[in-house]
Amino acid sequence: MSHPFPGLEQLIPSDAALEKLATGTAWGEGAVCLDDGAVLWSDIPGNRILRWHPQESTSETPFSVVMQPSHFHNGHTRDDGGRLYACSHGDRAVLRSADNGHTWQPIATHHGDKRLNSPNDVIVARDGGVWFSDPPYGLIQAHEGYGGDQEQEGHWVYRLDPATGAVEAKVCDLLRPNGLAFNLDETTLYVTDTGRSHDPEGRHHIHAYPVSGNTVGEGQVFAAVDPGLPDGIRTDVHGNLWSSSGGGVQVFAPDGTRLGVVPVPEAIGNLTFSHLDPYLYIAASSSLYRISVSVKGARF
Ligand code: MG
Repeated sequence: MSHPFPGLEQLIPSDAALEKLATGTAWGEGAVCLDDGAVLWSDIPGNRILRWHPQESTSETPFSVVMQPSHFHNGHTRDDGGRLYACSHGDRAVLRSADNGHTWQPIATHHGDKRLNSPNDVIVARDGGVWFSDPPYGLIQAHEGYGGDQEQEGHWVYRLDPATGAVEAKVCDLLRPNGLAFNLDETTLYVTDTGRSHDPEGRHHIHAYPVSGNTVGEGQVFAAVDPGLPDGIRTDVHGNLWSSSGGGVQVFAPDGTRLGVVPVPEAIGNLTFSHLDPYLYIAASSSLYRISVSVKGARF
């Protein structure tokens, strides 16, 4: 029998199939796995955070609502200690939670003396540095934020220093920086540019930047993603990059070669590897999916 996902034989078991776990979001994004096995994810236009759990969820009640209004949370992630991080379009802030998302405290609201635009996606490096993107979607889309004036000069990727709380711009050459991921040893930072979202001629590319300590070097195009956009991304321990798109999860080798695709029947906002189980969770437009994988994520 041929493998169901050609090119991904080493990464996905031959008996794997895409499972739809829950449906009902207007635009799903920001999936993160908790230590109890639950998955939280964002329904951005629904202004809520949802929770799916392998034992608690049923066909009648596939998810519960953790927070509503969520002030338009978008991306989520976790650090090695299990604390959660969120990007809030409505609060124009990056937030942190030490109680599995029940309460949140802002950790970044400004760059310089100006408010952030609408933080979109966030990752935490092993040194505790919090890296996040700041495109304008929560300001320019009425269903994804509370609006307001843009104060920042651009749409940049920032690093929050865990010791000082200082917020420094690290990537300033993209139009609409969005998804973020480090490779395993954190020497390469990948950032997606979703300029195509509001311009058919705009960018739909993943860029790669060399990182040394807290210094980011000159980036280059790593891959173009079609159809649609590369929104959220993750890397695995072998250095492959797993990207959202308009037509499935696209997997790229460390040299940018596209290895294969996991078809998903709707546009994907974000994805994340579980740190507990061999699954990749996928937050797509209306639904949360998962597929079993035979590789671990580099980060979550
Ligand atoms: Mg995003």
